[in-house]
Amino acid sequence: MADSKRNKNRCSFCGRTEDEVGFLITGMNGFICDSCATQAYEIVQEALGSGRKGDIKKLNLQELPKPLEIKQFLDQYVIGQDDAKRFLAVSVYNHYKRLLQKDSGDDVEIEKSNIIMVGSTGTGKTLLARTIAKMLNVPFTIVDATVLTEAGYVGEDIESILTRLLQVADYNVAEAERGIVFIDEIDKIARKGDNPSITRDVSGEGVQQGLLKLLEGSVVNVPPQGGRKHPEQKMIPVNTKNILFICGGAFDGIEKKIAQRLNTHVVGYNSVRNAATIDRNNLMQYIAPQDLKAFGLIPEIIGRLPVLTYLNPLDRTALRAILTEPKNSIIKQYVKLFEMDGVKLDFEDAVFEYIVDKAIEYKLGARGLRSIVETIMMDAMYEVPSEHKDCFVVTLDYARHQLEKANVARLQNA
Ligand code: ADP
Repeated sequence: MADSKRNKNRCSFCGRTEDEVGFLITGMNGFICDSCATQAYEIVQEALGSGRKGDIKKLNLQELPKPLEIKQFLDQYVIGQDDAKRFLAVSVYNHYKRLLQKDSGDDVEIEKSNIIMVGSTGTGKTLLARTIAKMLNVPFTIVDATVLTEAGYVGEDIESILTRLLQVADYNVAEAERGIVFIDEIDKIARKGDNPSITRDVSGEGVQQGLLKLLEGSVVNVPPQGGRKHPEQKMIPVNTKNILFICGGAFDGIEKKIAQRLNTHVVGYNSVRNAATIDRNNLMQYIAPQDLKAFGLIPEIIGRLPVLTYLNPLDRTALRAILTEPKNSIIKQYVKLFEMDGVKLDFEDAVFEYIVDKAIEYKLGARGLRSIVETIMMDAMYEVPSEHKDCFVVTLDYARHQLEKANVARLQNA
């Protein structure tokens, strides 16, 4: 994901890329996305005295979705990944409970359980986070750890993670202080290698130390507009004690660390028997905190992310299901697009198998499904609206022809 994100235009306020927002408005030296523009308008209104801060929303445990319901909701959009869904559902539900308990002044204090989800790129981590956001009763935002650097270096200060949350909460600090933040690509701030470095590591340990402060719960000064802190800017103090952090990362190559750990433990009769049952094709399922340490996360951070879960690699069946089953599956989206022109779009079943074959052949995973379908459908989307047809059937021959033609064209351009 990182590479594809890096080259895209980003909102200069929230840092999201152009395809993560509705649209970007271009300025002299930067961009602003639709939601930051709306927020900016509201801030202006508030500064002018016409805005009014909403009251903090009251939660009621009876009315809140239970973990089972949260999981069922996720099932409508995300294929498989049952473990990650259950962990997420429980953590979110417990987060609500903590917030309710805090209001009741009980002595047994429930500690927060920040989560870390590990899974190869394109297996649905961000999708899970985005989907859960649709049903949350607290402010929620997604931030990307790749833009973070230690204070004093080029990049964004750690505190800017909370800027977006403040914006989502309409600058209602109390509301933001009970929100949920999804930190994507957390693996990008891992130290390179297992040994602590002697020299300062711009993208590594210093950032982790900064992040630790947020995860532990402390009052931090947040720049209201994000980016870098500068002396003239008025900071907003935010207490992170009740903010739930969900982290996600691909941790490329962590399987090797898992395998090493599993192998070193394979000593003695019992372990040999266990070793035989290890599923070598999906080592991610055996992930343990020590593997994150071996990858380069500092133990303190790992300690503050007590819930560790993983996402499975997507196999053929999963890819096939992703094409058609989710509520807003890729194929359903194309059917809708054609329906808006009054055209009924149909696919031969063999086309789906063909698309999956190609995604596997080109090693594109779930992310590639969309570009393959787009390539197949491009000519039809161009021509059909002017042709006054009432149906269009994508046959296997048509799909194959379209994709081969596009590949040849690409080769010729290369
Ligand atoms: P990650 O964050 O793990 O790199 P994403 O969640 O961004 O991956 O997935 C990329 C795209 O692939 C999603 O937008 C979605 O279309 C598709 N996808 C990936 N995994 C799944 C899944 N388990 N169920 C449904 N769609 C998926």
